[in-house]
Amino acid sequence: MNYLFNALPNFTRIEISPSSRDSEVADRIRSLYPKDIIVELDSDIDATANKGIMSADEFNASKKSLLLTTFKGQFFKRCPGATQKKALTCCNYHVLNLGSQCNMNCSYCYLQSYLNSKQTKIFTNIDDALLELKSMADQFAEHPFRVGTGEVIDSLSLDQLTLYSRKLIPFFNQYPKWSLEFKTKSHFVDQFLDLETVGNTIASWSVNPDYIIEREEHGTASLEQRLTAARKCKDKGFQLAFHIDPMIWHPEWKENYSFLAEQIQKYFSADDVSIISMGALRFQPEQRHMMRERFGMKSLVTSAEMFPSEGNKLRYDASVRAEMFQFMLKCFKENSSKWNIFLCMETPETWIGSFEKIPIQIPELRSVFKPLPTLT
Ligand code: SF4
Repeated sequence: MNYLFNALPNFTRIEISPSSRDSEVADRIRSLYPKDIIVELDSDIDATANKGIMSADEFNASKKSLLLTTFKGQFFKRCPGATQKKALTCCNYHVLNLGSQCNMNCSYCYLQSYLNSKQTKIFTNIDDALLELKSMADQFAEHPFRVGTGEVIDSLSLDQLTLYSRKLIPFFNQYPKWSLEFKTKSHFVDQFLDLETVGNTIASWSVNPDYIIEREEHGTASLEQRLTAARKCKDKGFQLAFHIDPMIWHPEWKENYSFLAEQIQKYFSADDVSIISMGALRFQPEQRHMMRERFGMKSLVTSAEMFPSEGNKLRYDASVRAEMFQFMLKCFKENSSKWNIFLCMETPETWIGSFEKIPIQIPELRSVFKPLPTLT
């Protein structure tokens, strides 16, 4: 089967490292893209060679240039939120990085202050990643680790090229207590819907009202496309999660976010959705300059009034965040108390301001936030 159900991601140059030459991904790329944009490299590029923050032009260009290479480091890590454990209340999330950079273009994207590579990368040695994961999973098979693939690359926007979902889902089926989370703003799911799941793969979408998607989430799927893709996943037995994150303040925010809650509830009941997480706009101060250069002052993100906060990030004032979270909570809970909602990358104070409790005091969230063994 071809598995290419939608238009090809728009790369203008694709380089293939010698170490990736014989990989399945390289074969697939060669069969899908015109020969004249593919370059077979003579030697592997040193992934550590790029240092420092990129210019806006370099960052834009890095979305169009793809490098297939192998990754020599540790694939599997704790979520960055966990490394700031004193400041943030963290949900035991782990990340598996199978590439970096994203072919979509959100104005607030944290990759603007994080990445220093002038190319989008896909790591073709997924079999090494799975071996690494296996040694962890065999050791801790009984602990409910949550593993996400969408930290520095969208989980599914390039999946039609890599087909990594088709390797990951069967792998996680062997460890039913572990769960795999795809996190995306795309609507590409058809390439894995024929696979069996034992129920531990979570297809999740970051969602925002169309008002925000149109202004700030360039090149992403519309809300309706995301919800339709989620419906397809639910109908095939996959778990669902939604991340209403980042919530972005604007004068009509109440109207637009209540419409978002309505849309989600039009497609799904509380029983259909395992978890909804919420977070508000946040970014590193050094990112502001790049965002202004790339998106101008009309963006709701670059013009927002933000304050230094936990983890050195700029955030809305705590009272604004609490108001937004309480509002959203009410939009769901007034229809059903069964919606499972929590905050992402927030402080205990904001939890108390929004929920009147910290997560460990909320019975339905206790298992998500319970400390797990530390992996080395
Ligand atoms: S989808 Fe995610 S990774 Fe891609 S640009 Fe938007 S925020 Fe960044």
